[in-house]
Amino acid sequence: MPYKTKEQQKKFYKSKDWEATRLIVLERDNYECQECKRQGKVYTDKHDPDKHKRLDVDHIKDLEDYPELALELDNLEVLCVKCHNRKHNRFMFQKKKNKWADEWW
Ligand SMILES: [Zn+2]
Repeated sequence: MPYKTKEQQKKFYKSKDWEATRLIVLERDNYECQECKRQGKVYTDKHDPDKHKRLDVDHIKDLEDYPELALELDNLEVLCVKCHNRKHNRFMFQKKKNKWADEWW
């Protein structure tokens, strides 16, 4: 199944399969941002009831380019919103990447 368009991606992120898979990944990664962990500054908000809002499960290889890895656990890791945004340059290069703007503001 391809995830080329925003509509297809939205549908995927609302699917039961994704919901179940991201919970597995969150548990596996102990609700810690793996990128922060690699940098030695573990960001964990285990005691924060809003944790699910601030931690994302990221596709290491983009969903768009590797649809076959969409639910592959090895291709998924927990990132905090900050690292996730940095990875996708969503804020820094917003002018170049206008296609994301409506999604995030
Ligand atoms: Zn992080």
